[in-house]
This record gives sequence, C-alpha cells and structure tokens, in this order.
Amino acid sequence: MYTLEDICALVYIREVRAILRGRFVADSLRGVSANAGIVVDDGVIADVGGFDDVARDAGTSTVRTYDGILCPALINAHTHLELSALHRDRFHHTDFVDWVIKLVDTRASMSSEDMRPDCVHAKQEAEENGTGYFLNVGNDFELNNSLGDNQLFAFEQIGINDSSAEKIFNRSSGLALRKEGTSTALAVHAPYSVSPRLMKAIKSFNNRRGSMTSVHLAETEDEVEFVKSGTGRMMDLLNYRVGKWEFKPSGVSPVKYLDSLGILDQKTLCVHCVCVDEEDVNIIKDRGSAVAVCVRSNLELSGKVPPVGTFLRQGVKILIGTDSRASSPDLNMFAELGAFYSRFHDIMDPRPVFAAATSDAAETIGIGNCYGNIDRGRKASIVYVPFEGKREDVFEYLVSSPDATKVTVEA
Ligand SMILES: [Zn+2]
Repeated sequence: MYTLEDICALVYIREVRAILRGRFVADSLRGVSANAGIVVDDGVIADVGGFDDVARDAGTSTVRTYDGILCPALINAHTHLELSALHRDRFHHTDFVDWVIKLVDTRASMSSEDMRPDCVHAKQEAEENGTGYFLNVGNDFELNNSLGDNQLFAFEQIGINDSSAEKIFNRSSGLALRKEGTSTALAVHAPYSVSPRLMKAIKSFNNRRGSMTSVHLAETEDEVEFVKSGTGRMMDLLNYRVGKWEFKPSGVSPVKYLDSLGILDQKTLCVHCVCVDEEDVNIIKDRGSAVAVCVRSNLELSGKVPPVGTFLRQGVKILIGTDSRASSPDLNMFAELGAFYSRFHDIMDPRPVFAAATSDAAETIGIGNCYGNIDRGRKASIVYVPFEGKREDVFEYLVSSPDATKVTVEA
C-alpha cells in the first residue's frame, strides 16, 4: 500500500508533446481505460486513447509513465479562499451565529495584505492536492481577483436593507464589470443577509453575463426560522452587525422565499441546503438549480448534513465543495470527496460522486470546455493517483481518500 504522502500528485504539464501513460485513465464520462495515453501539447490535451494508438499518432514525444490512475483535477464548487488565514480551530463556538460573529470580527481586524500569504498558500496546497478549479466566494475584490485564472470569483454581497440595495449593487457591479468575461460574478450571501431588491439585482446582472449566482441557502434551522418568522438567533446577528435593519417575514422556507423572488434557475448554485424538506427539494429540481454540498463544514457548524438521498431521488444536480478553512479542516477536495462518500456510500455510487467534483461541476459552472474531463481540447489539468488495485475499483478508490489531507506533490 502507498503511504499517506503518496496518495496523489497533481501534474500540470506545460511542455510540448508529452504522452502521459497511465495504468488507468479515468473520468466520469469515459469511465476507466487501461494502459491509456494522454497526449499533452502546450498545456492542452491533444489526444487521448489507448497508449499504442496515441503514441503512434503523436510521433516523437516524451513518454511519462504513471503506475496508477490519471484523472481530471477536481473542481471545488464552494470555498472562500480569503478566509484561509482564519482556521476553524480559532473559532470555538456555541452555535452558528456565535461562529459568524467571531469570524467576521476577526476578519475585520485584518487587512488584505495580512490575509494574502495564507490565501496564496492554501490555494497552492489545494492545487497540489488535486484541485484544478475553484468557485471562490469572497468580499475582497482585489485580493481574490489576484489569486489566479483557475477560479470563478463570486464577489459576495451583503445588505439586508432594501434602502441600501442600489448603492451596494452599483458599487459591486461597477467593480465586476472591470473584469472581462465570466470569471467574476456577483454572489448573494444568504436570504437572511441580503434584501429582496439586492438579490434580484445581483441575479439579473449575473444572468445577463451568463454567470452562476451562488447563494448560501438553508444552512441552519436559525435561518429557516428567521426567513419564515423574522425571529430567533439571526436577529442577534443582525442586531450585532447592522444595528438598524428591516426584514419582512416571508412565512415560508428559505427555498420558497428565494423562489418567490425569482432567484432560482439553472444558473443558481444553492450552497448547503441542510435544512430543506421534500417540497423545497422539488422546487430546486423544477428550477434546474444545483446544490453544493460541503459535508465537513456542515458537520462543524450545524452537526447535520444535507438530505442527499432526497436530492438523488428528485434528480437534483449535486456538486461538492470544501467551504473555507474557517469551518473545514482544509481545502483538499479528495478529503472532501472521502467525507462525502463515507456518509453516502449506501445511496450513491462512486462514479457519480466523482462526477459531482469533475464533469457535473464543470458543466454547471460553465467551464466544461476546459475542465472536468480528460478529452481533446481540455486543459491538461490532470491528477495522478497511485493505485495498485483493479480496474473495477478505480472510482471507489478515487472517492475514498481518507488520508488525502497529507499528500505530497511531485514536481
Ligand atoms: Zn460558504
């Protein structure tokens, strides 16, 4: 067996015409191919297939042999890189609101430059551990945008009062418009912290640009109570953070509330959805929204996990994220997959679990032409996982990585 340090190594290939020869090549669409080759040319996958075939067609190339699995790098569908300096061990808390208050206070005491080294380091470490792309939610526009191209930076907005919506939106959309393409979007923090007017403005802005709208949704019972009745612990949070605030109780669940505002559609990513019922999930399914599950963060902050069985039964698309280091031990997506699969192996097969962190995530986020599969024209963002087992066990192995927090990386 391999040691913890051998679990996987990320291979970012930049050289011209290399053939990666894997005992197995696996992706969720193609399945598992034995003795396969991936031709990489200048950072892009030029060909993939049986090793002998691609080697013949590729002509003179450097061959690198990997005695294990080559697979696409993983996609982290929900994280906050900017919180990497704020490790969860610093935030012993009595409940979710207590955690938020401590986190926000500590963050407010730090400058962008204070936070930057840990952001850079955490992202690099996550990449070395097998993550190729991040849906990165954050409040610091310059810091997050400086962290590289392999992310959708979701510029998160907060503002519970409708009276402030226009000012907040004008400022944030003005900044986002400075960035070309769809690598920067706006994000809704949560139904208990963003006013209806601001939510709608963000959603229509993103839709016009073809970007995903990410929103923390139904993360705790406190949120459900507040959205429905306007009471409970979330009032303490708003009193502490905002002072004068207004919120009209919706009388319904957070999912139904967002749906009533037109926020849920195929370009919406509902993050967490721990406290949802069958009707909520049915709405998410009908609107074509996806859910980002962050098991380790949910267990830390609420002691519960989302009803993945209901998601599956209703056909809701599931993605997987680590959330931030402020609620998760690390940003290692193989460890996150392991945590997910160990909880849900009775109801979900390994291959769709792997798809949740690769091809399904890429398609949902809109980066399927670059990430998520081993295919011609995709970026050569490829992971190597040492593996001695049989072909039929490849996907199970990929999603059962209990030791993946301690990987080392080959150059
Ligand atoms: Zn989050």
